[in-house]
Amino acid sequence: LGRIIDGKAIADAIRTEISRELIGRAADVDVVVDGIGGGKIGGRPGLAVMLVGNRADSATYVRMKQRACADAGISSYLETYPDVDGVTEEMLLDRIRRWNDDDDVHGILVQLPLPPKIDEGRILGAVNPAKDVDGLHPSNVARLFSSDTHDRTHDGERLDWTDLSSVPFHLPCTPQGCVELLDRIGCDIEGKRAVVIGRSNLVGLPVAMMLVHRNATVTIVHSRTVDARDVVREADIVIAAAGKANMVKSDWLKRGCVVIDVGINAINDSTAKRGYRLVGDVDYDGGAKDVAGWITPVPGGVGPMTIAMLLRNTYNSWKRANK
Ligand code: NAD
Repeated sequence: LGRIIDGKAIADAIRTEISRELIGRAADVDVVVDGIGGGKIGGRPGLAVMLVGNRADSATYVRMKQRACADAGISSYLETYPDVDGVTEEMLLDRIRRWNDDDDVHGILVQLPLPPKIDEGRILGAVNPAKDVDGLHPSNVARLFSSDTHDRTHDGERLDWTDLSSVPFHLPCTPQGCVELLDRIGCDIEGKRAVVIGRSNLVGLPVAMMLVHRNATVTIVHSRTVDARDVVREADIVIAAAGKANMVKSDWLKRGCVVIDVGINAINDSTAKRGYRLVGDVDYDGGAKDVAGWITPVPGGVGPMTIAMLLRNTYNSWKRANK
């Protein structure tokens, strides 16, 4: 019991895999590692990032994503709109259309949340689905939420949900990171009971759908669920994405279950440098760690995986564009 899923180490391993593959293919990346380098494809992958407003947390996430791109050999382009009063939907749409037409851009990421005066759906819907590395465009969402994809893609190709990297459209990064963690610890998902806590478009719903495609039996718990504890106790796999600090107590968990804690919640802590610290949705220190078979820490669990999956989506987008 209590084995820790080291999301940081797993994400680092994936990032290394990506950059090794990348330098083996890209003619323009002038790094050689272990004799690999100088591949045949011109250019290199590029990620364009849009940051609107001046939220400190969004700026931090964008910086982390850009740094990860640089480390992996992916170019990144940042467009910021700090003046919320001055920005219009038309300005943002115009920027996105130019990125859609730009052959050096393979991924487009709109950092969320957008200011309330901007129609998020309108902006996300303008991104070319092939470049939608966050997997939030309605056509990518629809493909994830279709049972047709159990067997074939739109092109009639077979689709393999056991290898998410091979799925030929973009899957959202955080949910993809959750399933990837389960795979990397050798958790057999098929036939298992999975409980997802949360039903957002960003995390809860897509991760539930991915687990369905992997043949788990999935229950979604949300803010109106009655007796959530009794439902969660049935789970072999728990994905917690409610955004409620330490909500899932140790007596909510079945002994030996696998816990993926997506929540990132700041709680006051006068002993911490900044006056707060980050905790998950699962009461890790309050005993959950000792009941679970495997559990992700917060921070250092799902967070680093989100970034690794963003790099993977961008890299795959570039590969498809150069086929
Ligand atoms: P959200 O607020 O959009 O959705 C939360 C969901 O939880 C809602 O569907 C709601 O029904 C459900 N919920 C709320 N209270 C509940 C309760 N008491 N019991 C059961 N369900 C409840 O949030 P989100 O964007 O899905 O993010 C969820 C959490 O994951 C947040 O803490 C967020 O910071 C974190 N997050 C982490 C990453 C990462 O990279 N690690 C990425 C995205 C989000």
